[in-house]
Amino acid sequence: MTAKLIKGTEIREQILEEIASEVLELKEKHGIVPGLVTILVGENPASMSYVTLKIKTATRLGFKEIQDSQPEDIAEEDLLNLIDKYNNDDSIDGILVQLPLPKHIDEKKVLNAIDPDKDVDGFHPINVGRLMIGGDAVKFAPCTPAGIQEMIIRAGVETSGAEVVVVGRSNIVGKPIANMMFQKAEGANSTVTVVHTRTKDLAAHCKRADILIVAAGVPGLVEPAWIKPGACVIDVGVNRVGEKISEKTGKKIAILRGDVDFDAAKEIAGSITPVPGGVGPMTITMLMKNTLKSMKFKLGII
Ligand code: NAP
Repeated sequence: MTAKLIKGTEIREQILEEIASEVLELKEKHGIVPGLVTILVGENPASMSYVTLKIKTATRLGFKEIQDSQPEDIAEEDLLNLIDKYNNDDSIDGILVQLPLPKHIDEKKVLNAIDPDKDVDGFHPINVGRLMIGGDAVKFAPCTPAGIQEMIIRAGVETSGAEVVVVGRSNIVGKPIANMMFQKAEGANSTVTVVHTRTKDLAAHCKRADILIVAAGVPGLVEPAWIKPGACVIDVGVNRVGEKISEKTGKKIAILRGDVDFDAAKEIAGSITPVPGGVGPMTITMLMKNTLKSMKFKLGII
């Protein structure tokens, strides 16, 4: 069997079109557009290219987009004051502080200073708590897990009653997606197992999974024999395993590999996400969706 490919690049385009048309509609009706500010401290090249992509996407959607670049040596207090300024700016619906921050700044303190109602990344403890409660309490699900769930739903995979196994328990992927999949909600109602480095028999757990979500950061960790025939496999891992010259640009680019042995796994799974082009494109997409959602909360229409 050859698995159906769940392509994040295609799902991203569908969702961005939906967001763009909703932005237009709301602009005509209410005269405002979603406002997103990205605060970038220093000049970390990876952060800069990620932020550039965010700006490009927000601009394409017709958002008000502010990129606020600050010097590497900004004082923590000044950064906190800047966040406070955007917390009190009614035209801003989403505040994003690009990580990592320089060592002299307490990351936790900075993230906790963001108004939870503008925390479109969904990392503020209040939003983590809301996610755990589930249902109407949820404001913003963190972007990568939200993207994973959206892909599962749009691929038409049955989640209700499904055995979901999540490999990894990080705060940004493993824990939140596990929490989301067992909630009493659409695209959820699953029975969830979380496995990690202390799990005794990783393979045995993975083999039971109707939906296997892998976020370990270990290239090729999941072997084909661990996959239940017909399962949905979501590979979150993005691992740089080398470099090559791009045929398009002639420049050096990273060779990326997921946490799953893709070529063998696609012969066993029912559906599978590729790396790259799978979960990756969904994160920024869901950030935009959260920013639009934030504006809708502000307008009192959800
Ligand atoms: P992380 O914070 O390093 O967490 C990795 C988790 O995997 C940990 O819970 C760890 O267990 C577990 N793990 C590691 N090796 C394992 C093994 N051999 N067996 C079982 N469990 C193992 O990583 P993360 O931030 O969640 O990211 C995971 C991967 O997803 C990375 O490749 C990252 O680049 C990728 N990612 C992609 C996106 C995206 O596409 N948009 C977003 C975020 C992350 P312990 O807790 O026991 O140490």
